[in-house]
Amino acid sequence: MKILKLPREELDLFGAVLQQFGEVHAPVARGDHYVFARLDRWSDAVLDYTRTILPPKKYFLPPCETLLRFRKGKGYEPASEDLDRKMVLFGVHPCDIFGLNILDDVFAGKFPDPYYQARRKNIAIIGIDCVPDEHCFCRSMRADFVDHGFDLFLYDIGDYYLTFVGTARGDDMVLAAGTIFQPVSREDIEEYKRRSEAKRQAFKLDVEIRDLPEIFEMEYHADLWDELGKRCLSCGNCSMVCPTCYCYDVVDEVELGSRDSTRERRWDSCLFSSHALVAGGENFRESGASRIKFRFYHKQRGFVAEYGRPSCIGCGRCIEVCPVNIDIIEVLNLLRGGEHVASS
Ligand code: SF4
Ligand code: SF4
Repeated sequence: MKILKLPREELDLFGAVLQQFGEVHAPVARGDHYVFARLDRWSDAVLDYTRTILPPKKYFLPPCETLLRFRKGKGYEPASEDLDRKMVLFGVHPCDIFGLNILDDVFAGKFPDPYYQARRKNIAIIGIDCVPDEHCFCRSMRADFVDHGFDLFLYDIGDYYLTFVGTARGDDMVLAAGTIFQPVSREDIEEYKRRSEAKRQAFKLDVEIRDLPEIFEMEYHADLWDELGKRCLSCGNCSMVCPTCYCYDVVDEVELGSRDSTRERRWDSCLFSSHALVAGGENFRESGASRIKFRFYHKQRGFVAEYGRPSCIGCGRCIEVCPVNIDIIEVLNLLRGGEHVASS
């Protein structure tokens, strides 16, 4: 992998260069929070943000999208208006890039999704490293560092950004910037290693995941699931903000007075009481306990069996948004040996 450095004072200039590659989106402040949004001005970008409310998933799997249109006499036509839109997503944290790599397993693997794949192809990713806060546990989830899934990745090393070039498109961006990228010196490498170690030491949360699937297997009947089921409001907040939750519903909307219709895909959540409701009124996950248990089992056990790693990247978003303080770290640590767990 090619590694260069970008002088900090040239970042604005590089931001202008990136516009050749598509609409530039980056984290911007919204009150006390951050969201990924199109930049009106480069100075709106906040590069030392903690986490955005919604992860970059929203660009690749939008909360609601039209998949097909049906017109009388014409039949079905794929809806693909925005699939060719070129964009640059600037300032994506390593865990969120890891989240996209996990979504690739699902939407670009055995059953490729053309809508997801087209967006993945047309949206460039420029990552940036970060400092963990009190909710981050990406290190435990082995998602604090990414080696693919980005075009460029920037590490702050003081007066420069050490820049990893991940793709040919990333290389084109560097070339388009003329002479502003420079070769890396021994001093830069030592500074990178020093900051990398400091980041490792900065994590406040930790959970051991190596034998978690086996522990989940043994604790399927733990009382903890009923306790969590009583507390959980089934609001679905945790799924909506999760970079790797990908449940969706497909709904046909028929226009009144005509036979025209659209087929829409909308985010869903396995926590919603309607999620497992099927024809005939049967609900195979009627209790809140069964639903929250399913979410944990799918992420920490089922996904490991299928893809070799948990589908949690330790971003901490679900901890931040849960109105009843259900905290994934507490749950995992309780399962590992806390007093609440009592298998029946
Ligand atoms: S489960 Fe929570 S911590 Fe894990 S990736 Fe989803 S939102 Fe982030
Ligand atoms: S955010 Fe909390 S209360 Fe809402 S569905 Fe998730 S676990 Fe339940």
